[in-house]
Amino acid sequence: MSSDKTYSFFQSVERSFDKAATFTKFEKGILEQIKACNSVYQMRFPIKRDDGSIEVIEAYRVQHSQHKTPCKGGIRFSDEVNQDEVMALASLMTYKCAIVNVPFGGGKGGIKINPRNYSVYELEKITRRYTAELVKKNFIGPGIDVPAPDYGTGAREMSWIVDTYQSLKPGEIDSAGCVTGKPVTQGGVRGRTEATGLGVFFGIREVCNMPAVMEKLGLQIGVKDKTVVVQGLGNVGYHSAKFFRENGSKVIALAEFEGAIMNPDGLNEEQVFQHRKATGSILNFPGATNLEKNTDALELECDILIPAALENVINGENAPRVKAKIIGEAANGPCTPEADEVFVQKGILCVPDMYLNAGGVTVSYFEWLKNLSHVRYGRMEKRFTENLNSHILSQMESLTGKQVGAGERAFIMHGPEEVDLVHSGLEETMITATREIMDIWNSNPNIPDMRTAAYVNAINKVGTSYGELGIFP
Ligand code: NAD
Repeated sequence: MSSDKTYSFFQSVERSFDKAATFTKFEKGILEQIKACNSVYQMRFPIKRDDGSIEVIEAYRVQHSQHKTPCKGGIRFSDEVNQDEVMALASLMTYKCAIVNVPFGGGKGGIKINPRNYSVYELEKITRRYTAELVKKNFIGPGIDVPAPDYGTGAREMSWIVDTYQSLKPGEIDSAGCVTGKPVTQGGVRGRTEATGLGVFFGIREVCNMPAVMEKLGLQIGVKDKTVVVQGLGNVGYHSAKFFRENGSKVIALAEFEGAIMNPDGLNEEQVFQHRKATGSILNFPGATNLEKNTDALELECDILIPAALENVINGENAPRVKAKIIGEAANGPCTPEADEVFVQKGILCVPDMYLNAGGVTVSYFEWLKNLSHVRYGRMEKRFTENLNSHILSQMESLTGKQVGAGERAFIMHGPEEVDLVHSGLEETMITATREIMDIWNSNPNIPDMRTAAYVNAINKVGTSYGELGIFP
């Protein structure tokens, strides 16, 4: 899919990179190396369909950068997959990992299929064969390249991948770290499923807590009572909507493939999800109004717009009609460079994908560390912390002669579970990344937008690590 008449998705990423590179100190050669996709593996393999026919499947894995290893990035199942798209997404992964201080290079995979057109058994065969092809070419492994879920894939596909890998590499002690986003029973980490949506929420909340930014946008500080529109009710969109709603925002519209619905009093994503499951469509949700086209939702009056479906949905054509004050790019590449220019003119703040949707890769990093350490987070300290807290509470009570209430007692006593530590690590990561990018943006009045500031941050980190490695012969 091209971003507009002249530029492909990868070229759009390159253009954003070039724009930001002028604000860095690196020589041309280093910038070229940071930009280049190091390895592109295009493959074709046959599978036998349930009706007995043979189909040749087109698939990709791109390793954009090995300045840190392993490479990391999701696998997408979509009939829009092509080499340019996978290269663009792999590049974004390099920059994303750098911005959130996750020590990986960027990678991405794609299989050109619409998963709805295949049975579960066929999908399993495709996923396992794809994994076997990656193993054959040394394109997967805990120290080489670690895939994860993306559009059209989830924990189920990741469990097929780890199982195939382990059967081909018996006895490899860290093999569970060959892929992330696994079910918890297969070596996954608690908190991964909701990670990207929660990261989107933490990132936007941090922006909304910055008084200078809110003043410029004419908005009140905080996410409470903000109106939110979400496009895409998949993993990322669903969880983004959930955390905004749970924290007092109003999700006034939701858009899916088949259409969009709106309710100014707020929508509950779980109820909409169940309605869609039961009826096959989000349309005709009780109490909500149907919008004629699903893209109409993007043009609604709201404080925060969250595109969480696919790339290039806001472009030079429809950007002038966007009325949101803040756009949170939960999907990868939802806004084109032309749209960015319109946002700058209109004073819309676009919070860029590259860091905003980094929650998935951040928690993937935690999962990978768990796999390498072979121990569940919280196992060592949970009881210790609870015993210590209990002791402190008893001391406080005996010194003051007063009793702490039951609710407060439970809160203070609680030792961290795995999910608490994962959420807390994610919150810290997103807050730090938001502040780093804002500091860069504030330090140079010529940097036009937050995306450019994020790229500057990424280029500085990747470029410095190339410099430190001194790797060029
Ligand atoms: P998903 O497959 O779970 O959900 C995507 C949803 O978008 C689906 O429900 C689909 O029907 C809907 N959709 C497709 N086209 C649409 C349209 N034109 N209008 C409205 N809805 C539409 O995928 P996901 O994992 O939620 O990924 C969504 C985006 O987020 C992708 O760009 C992906 O690269 C990005 N992302 C995902 C993760 C992750 O952890 N899953 C991490 C980072 C970035």
